[in-house]
Amino acid sequence: MYDYQNTLQYAQQQDQTDPLSPFCDRFLIPQRDGLPLTYLCGNSLGLQPVAAREALNRELEVWQGHGVEGWFEGEEPWLYYHRYCKEPLAKVVGALPSEVCPMNNLTVNLHLMLTSFYRPTAERLKVLTIASDFPSDQYALETHLRTRGYNPEEALVEVKPREGEYTLRTEDILQVIDTHADSLALVVMSGLHYYTGQVLDMPAITHQAHRYHIPVGFDLAHAVGNYPVQLHDWEVDFAVWCSYKYLNSGPGGVSGIFVHERHHQAGLPRLAGWWGYQEERRFEMTKGFVPMAGADGWQLSTPTILALAVHRASLAIFEEAGMENLRAKSERLTGYLEFILREINHKYGNPVTMMTPAGASERGCQLSLLVEERGKVLFDELVRNGIIGDWREPNCIRLAPTPLYNTFEEVWRVGQVLDHFYSQN
Ligand SMILES: *Cc1c(COP(=O)(O)O)cnc(C)c1O
Repeated sequence: MYDYQNTLQYAQQQDQTDPLSPFCDRFLIPQRDGLPLTYLCGNSLGLQPVAAREALNRELEVWQGHGVEGWFEGEEPWLYYHRYCKEPLAKVVGALPSEVCPMNNLTVNLHLMLTSFYRPTAERLKVLTIASDFPSDQYALETHLRTRGYNPEEALVEVKPREGEYTLRTEDILQVIDTHADSLALVVMSGLHYYTGQVLDMPAITHQAHRYHIPVGFDLAHAVGNYPVQLHDWEVDFAVWCSYKYLNSGPGGVSGIFVHERHHQAGLPRLAGWWGYQEERRFEMTKGFVPMAGADGWQLSTPTILALAVHRASLAIFEEAGMENLRAKSERLTGYLEFILREINHKYGNPVTMMTPAGASERGCQLSLLVEERGKVLFDELVRNGIIGDWREPNCIRLAPTPLYNTFEEVWRVGQVLDHFYSQN
C-alpha cells in the first residue's frame, strides 16, 4: 500500500515531508548521555508535553495567590475545571461534550460504570468479557460481581482466541453474544487489547449486543488518543479510559468516562458524591442527591486540579494536531515498522512473530512481537541502543511508535539494531 524503503534516506525524507513532525518539539524526549532516546513506550506512559510544566505552574500560582478562592476566582475558576477539558476530550473519543467527563482514575471509573450498567435479573445476570484482559479489569469484574452477590466463576463468560491463534475473531465474539443472549446482562471489554495490540470491532460488538438489549461498555485505556473511536455514533453505552498512556497527561493522570446521551435522563443507579450534585446548588449542602446533567453527574469527589491542568494542556495538542491527521501518520509509521520487521524475518528465517493483526484497521500504533528465542537478550540490546519499548514475560516485546513524537528515522533505526543483532548471532 505504501512505497516503503528500508533506507535512512527514505526515512529522513518521510520525516521532512511529515506535516506532524513539528509536534516532536512539543514533548520532552528523555535522554541518555546527552542523546535523545527512541521512546516507543507511549502505550505505558506517554511523554511529558513541554506545556505541562507551565500549566502546572499556572495553577500553583492561583493556589498561591488566591488560596481557597481559587475555586471561584481568577479567569478560570477551579470549580469549572473539568469543563475546560470536555470539548477536546469529546473530539478524541467521538462523543458529545455532555457525554464525557474527566474524573478519578480508570479502575475506579470502571467500578462506577458497572454499578450503573450492570443490572442483573434472575434470568440475565452474566457478563461477557474477553479472557486475559488487563489484570485490573479482571480484578474489577471479579470483585464487582462478588459484592453484588454473584459468583464470578458462574457469572463471567470469557471469549478466547482460537487454539493456535493470538487474537480474537469478531465472528467468535458475535457468536458468543448470540449463544448467551438470554443470560447476558452486560458486555464489557477492552476496545484495544493491551498485550496483542488488537482493536476489537467495537461497532459490530455493540450492534450485536443491542439486538438483545444488552448494554456494552469498553475500556479504552489503549485506544484513546491512539485509535479513532466514534462512541456516540457507534451507540456504545459507556466507556472508561486513562490519560497517562497515549494521552500524555502524566503518571496516574486523570481518567475519563463516556456515558451515551440516551442514558442521561434514565435515572440509572449510581454511587454518588457531592461533585456530581447540581453545580449551582452544590454548596447549599442539602439532603437528597440530585445529579448534574450528563456524564458530569457521575463525578464523586473534588477533582485533582493539578492533574486536570496537565490533562488539559495535553488535550490541546490533540486538538491542534487532529485525530484524523494523527491516525493517518500512525498507520504509515506503524506500517513502516511492520515492513522493516518483515524484512528482518525474510532475511533471518522468521525470528520475530507479530501477534498484532497485520491490517491497520485492526490495530493502533503498537506492535507486539513474540520472540521465542533470546527475546530478552534482544530487548536488552534494543535498550542498550537507546530504544525503549517494553518487555512482557515470557517473550513479548511491545513497540509503540506514536505519531506525536516518534519519527520514521527512529523506526528505521530499530531495524538497524535488529539487523545487527541477528547478523551477529
Ligand atoms: C493501563 C490499564 C489499566 C490501569 O488502570 P488504572 O486504574 O489506571 O491503574 C486498566 N485497564 C487497562 C485495559 C489498561 O490498559
